[in-house]
Amino acid sequence: MSAINKLSVGIRKFHTTASRLRKYVELTAVRYPLLKRGNFSFLSDRHLGFFQSILSAHQVLTDELNDLSGYNVDWMRSVRGSSRLVLRPKTTEEVAAILQYCNVQNIAICPQGGNTGLVGGSVPVFDEVVLSLELMDEVISVDELSGVTIVQAGCVLEKLETVLHLSNLALPLDLGAKGSCQIGGNVATNAGGIRLLRYGNLHGSVLGLTAVLANGQIMDCLNTNKKDNTGYDLKQLFIGSEGTLGVVTQVALQCQPKPSSVQVGFFGLNSFENVLETLRLSKRNLGEILSSCELIDQSSLECVTKQLELRSPINNFPFYMLLETAGSNAGHDAEKLNSLLEILINNGTIVDGTLAVDSAQAKNLWGLRERISEALACEGYVYKYDVSVPIRQFYQLVDDIRIRLGNLPIRCCGYGHLGDGNLHLNITSHEYNPILLNRIEPFVYDWVGQERGSVSAEHGLGLKKRDYMEYSKSPTAIHWMRRVKKLFDPNNILNPYKIFPEQSSTD
Ligand SMILES: Cc1cc2nc3c(=O)[nH]c(=O)nc-3n(C[C@H](O)[C@H](O)[C@H](O)COP(=O)(O)OP(=O)(O)OC[C@H]3O[C@@H](n4cnc5c(N)ncnc54)[C@H](O)[C@@H]3O)c2cc1C
Repeated sequence: MSAINKLSVGIRKFHTTASRLRKYVELTAVRYPLLKRGNFSFLSDRHLGFFQSILSAHQVLTDELNDLSGYNVDWMRSVRGSSRLVLRPKTTEEVAAILQYCNVQNIAICPQGGNTGLVGGSVPVFDEVVLSLELMDEVISVDELSGVTIVQAGCVLEKLETVLHLSNLALPLDLGAKGSCQIGGNVATNAGGIRLLRYGNLHGSVLGLTAVLANGQIMDCLNTNKKDNTGYDLKQLFIGSEGTLGVVTQVALQCQPKPSSVQVGFFGLNSFENVLETLRLSKRNLGEILSSCELIDQSSLECVTKQLELRSPINNFPFYMLLETAGSNAGHDAEKLNSLLEILINNGTIVDGTLAVDSAQAKNLWGLRERISEALACEGYVYKYDVSVPIRQFYQLVDDIRIRLGNLPIRCCGYGHLGDGNLHLNITSHEYNPILLNRIEPFVYDWVGQERGSVSAEHGLGLKKRDYMEYSKSPTAIHWMRRVKKLFDPNNILNPYKIFPEQSSTD
């Protein structure tokens, strides 16, 4: 194993390259002509006057040229709304006053966190008012003993992580967008990320939350106990609801002791069978200290190194794996990892690789995995699929779609959270190409449906995946989800056009 010498510094913080920003984004209403604006009120001076009467000037943005464009376009620069108003409340009570008014006036709202969502859920489709949580970014309390942390929903994940480290605590989730995404957005999407393997998803780590309902009612479910079996656990409904049931304003999280020993390794493998064997033996031999197990294929690595000028310590393998351990005893953890590597090298499962010798090198290795999304976006338009598939079939979908698409796209690659069976299949073209899209969809969804996988493992449905819910949910489940939506938001003002497929008159 060679140590890493000169890797270029991959900054973990969220990036937006200038070339991407210059790209023109077609209006969603033009790109998707079948979408019809709901029967909502158009914004009037009277409405604006009300919002200006309850909020300060800097909390009400109306300047289309200078202020609004960033709120109307998604991170992938693939959808664009035409909202004329962004509201930036600072308290739960201000959110409640806004929603109460919008509900009575029939004004549609698009809740927005860090706007890093990848399914077109975080920006308006037409002229919905954007409700940005960005000014609600306070860390309210941190208890080192219990790990219970209470935070306002607009707090950026990386800021929260920094605050927690001061108390020797760590977040139960981590993702490439942490420099911009907010904890409220994470809860609303039930974000997964690179540590789900170790800590599980947010349905387990969120102890409680406060949400404002469509009618302005404040639902206080800010429980901080680990155990609470007093009736229905209503907070779970908001986790993964993508802004369609209520606006999350506060979150109580179960945080974990910060690991004092972290090891990161990056390995090259010659076949997918070897990848599976490495996963199997890592789980068995590393046990409780295994904190991440990520896969990167050759094409993904080629893209991230070329587009972002990062250096990989090893090259020319069809597959790469990034393994991380996190524990509390460096000697014990190193012994475990070393004996695993001895087995894997001796039986020829991994061919080459490197272990980071310090945190800077570990960060560089993580950059090769976490910045793939950003690198792909530099190639033009990205067709993104985030699916759960049975682990043995994990890479078969990439092979099958490559054969199907031939040389139509620039690139067809696969990477993702192997340890969780979550594949990120990505296809790129210079610009949006409906012919290519029709070759990909619904083929991808049929493929995943036949394997009884999930068409959205962690990014949600938003606008772009909403028509494919039925591939992963039964008609009865969809029926009851619609009933829940109707109960919480009878006027459909909260993030309309998202999650649910358009309903025909006979449904
Ligand atoms: C580089 C990169 C890497 C990523 N890696 C991962 C990953 O590993 N795992 C993963 O799961 N996702 C990942 N994502 C996707 C994205 O970061 C997550 O979905 C994230 O949780 C979104 O948070 P946000 O604050 O940006 O929310 P937004 O994008 O602003 O919103 C997402 C959805 O939540 C709703 N929403 C936001 N805030 C609230 C609120 N307070 N109350 C109610 N609804 C709200 C919005 O209406 C929208 O429907 C990645 C994205 C990028 C760009």
